[in-house]
Amino acid sequence: MPDNSAGNNAMKNSAMKNFIGSRAMPDLVYHSPDTITDLMVLMDTHGTSARVVAGCTDFIPSIRTGRWCFDQELNLIDVSKMDELHQIEKQGDILKIGAGVNLTRILESPEVQTHCPVLAQAVEQMASLQVRNTATMGGNICMASPAADTVPPLLVLDAWVMIHDAKGEHKVLLTDFFTGPGRSVLTSGQVLTHICIPVKKSNEAAWFQKIGTRTAVIISVVSAAVRVNVTNGICDTARIALGSVAPTPVRVTTAEAFLEGKPLDDQVIKEGARLAAHAISPISDLRSSKEYRKDMAQTLVKRSITACTEALK
Ligand SMILES: Cc1cc2nc3c(=O)[nH]c(=O)nc-3n(C[C@H](O)[C@H](O)[C@H](O)COP(=O)(O)OP(=O)(O)OC[C@H]3O[C@@H](n4cnc5c(N)ncnc54)[C@H](O)[C@@H]3O)c2cc1C
Repeated sequence: MPDNSAGNNAMKNSAMKNFIGSRAMPDLVYHSPDTITDLMVLMDTHGTSARVVAGCTDFIPSIRTGRWCFDQELNLIDVSKMDELHQIEKQGDILKIGAGVNLTRILESPEVQTHCPVLAQAVEQMASLQVRNTATMGGNICMASPAADTVPPLLVLDAWVMIHDAKGEHKVLLTDFFTGPGRSVLTSGQVLTHICIPVKKSNEAAWFQKIGTRTAVIISVVSAAVRVNVTNGICDTARIALGSVAPTPVRVTTAEAFLEGKPLDDQVIKEGARLAAHAISPISDLRSSKEYRKDMAQTLVKRSITACTEALK
């Protein structure tokens, strides 16, 4: 039943209770704003009952499994059709990707393949084609899962996000975005609009690897991303980020500092990987033991630095 009082393109499902699996869906009003201005009006009007969504590939399973329950009516604001959030464009030395761009477009984008190939490498290992066709990088980041696969590559690329709220737009470094499992600095009334990534330099290589409990369509048990910049045979910048080994995806700065200023020979790579594993304290859970996670973190970091050095030869 259309409900045009709440904003443009609004649809309400409360006439009859809908079920998702055996669970009752919350009462939803679906909004599909066309512009940021419309989106901000909806956020302001609906306050804490507003929820921004994109592909819903995390949202729907979270309701289905009972992880998220909503007592009050929910105003679902879908950003996936907003033109402003659908661009992938190079602006100088930055690649700017809209939060509403789906993972398939990111994977197939010539700009991403040229300027941030490690991001395409990670996206290729995510989910299935069907999921990638709707899931967005904005959703992957905002879900704030420790296992979010786009985050380690973005961390090693020194990426940042743009956040829009009633006061306008501001920048947040991805290193400052996550505050805990499922938690971030985003507050009610705020939407992530763009992800900004410095483009690849000629002396730079980056690599991503993940391990799961099977080889495809699987959440990471451990993931690792590495970036190195090498000048005259010496590593001048090193970035190492790990997923699924801490409450949030993390950078391991001790290992990065060890690599910087050294030639990336076998001994240095081995010690850098050991330091990376030493810096983390993962938990044991259904998917893996903490010992396995530490061991695999070391292996993935070693393989990733080696892959970077091979790529730079
Ligand atoms: C079968 C399957 C396999 C999967 N495999 C993987 C995998 O291999 N790796 C992986 O990392 N993930 C995986 N996922 C998880 C999921 O697909 C990703 O996290 C996806 O990128 C989420 O994007 P979305 O657009 O669907 O987010 P949504 O479900 O729409 O939203 C997720 C969360 O982010 C918030 N949100 C979304 N967009 C914004 C925005 N612009 N501003 C503010 N808040 C926002 C929503 O409110 C919600 O809390 C998988 C999921 C499924 C169902």
